[in-house]
Amino acid sequence: EAKARKKGSVSVYDQSLREMVERRLTLENDLRDAIGKGEITPHYQIQVDLVTGAVVGVEALARWHHAQLGPIPPDEFIPIAEASGQIVDIGKHMIACACKDALRLPPNVQVAVNLSVIQIMQGEIMETTADALMATRLPPDRLKLEVTESVMMADPKQPIAVLSELRYLGVSLALDDFGTGYSSLSYLTTFHWDEIKIDRAFVNDLDTDSIGLSVIEAVLVLAKKTGAKVVVEGVETHKQLELLQGTGCDIGQGYFFGKPVPIDMACAQIREINKALPGQPLPARRKDK
Ligand code: C2E
Ligand code: MG
Ligand code: MG
Ligand code: MG
Repeated sequence: EAKARKKGSVSVYDQSLREMVERRLTLENDLRDAIGKGEITPHYQIQVDLVTGAVVGVEALARWHHAQLGPIPPDEFIPIAEASGQIVDIGKHMIACACKDALRLPPNVQVAVNLSVIQIMQGEIMETTADALMATRLPPDRLKLEVTESVMMADPKQPIAVLSELRYLGVSLALDDFGTGYSSLSYLTTFHWDEIKIDRAFVNDLDTDSIGLSVIEAVLVLAKKTGAKVVVEGVETHKQLELLQGTGCDIGQGYFFGKPVPIDMACAQIREINKALPGQPLPARRKDK
């Protein structure tokens, strides 16, 4: 009897494993013409200046709507695309879309695109970025590229050379998800980042203890020394926002401000927020002495 039970549980395991492998193969296969079929599109999530309340940026996040399976989350299909090399085409598509969509945003709003380590190491990223900027005539300082600290892990010499070339093009560079994985404080200083994005795990922690806050404050000190702006990811509640404003973080991103949405909705969100903002103060030099 025990043997039969054991046998049974093994076959259930086999079956779910087989289903996982099959889904993965299906996704990898269908990813091949997903761009051509228009199934992969960017959504945009607004980023807000924590002092003025103004929208200063949007982050482009890839969405895949599979014809049969419905929406596939990026945490599922990006790793598959990285393993198969298809991330290069997806990345190219995302940069092209983001540069085109950025033209519809106010000129003081930057658009950020996520890069995979594969794109950095593979060698086409300079050409891809330059092509997208030329095709759209988007000023390079409107585009920001986000990389995670995993690019710095093995041998940072090559990624730093690539990032420096991209910087030379005039685009901004952000270190994404800081504090996850094998974080090292040296990643903050081995390259001159325009922006450090603190992972939402630390913002989450704000609700339960003060460790999150201490980490955020420590990163802030280092980031300010290097001149980088600090973005906090995953702001969901007003309480979190208040705590973060007290720390001196520059920019917030999260469901509290808005979820990732199609470009039309992002434009509407930005119009709505900017309409509600108080009038801009006069420049200092115009003030009566
Ligand atoms: P990421 O770059 O760190 O993007 C932020 C993720 O956090 C997004 O998940 C966003 O929807 C989610 N998020 C934002 N605010 C909140 C919040 O308040 N609460 C919670 N719980 N989540 C929040 P998403 O869109 O599922 O993307 C997941 C990851 O997939 C991204 O993390 C990025 O690493 C990767 N990814 C997405 N699009 C691309 C792409 O075009 N290229 C590459 N290479 N990676 C991408
Ligand atoms: Mg990102
Ligand atoms: Mg992130
Ligand atoms: Mg992430």
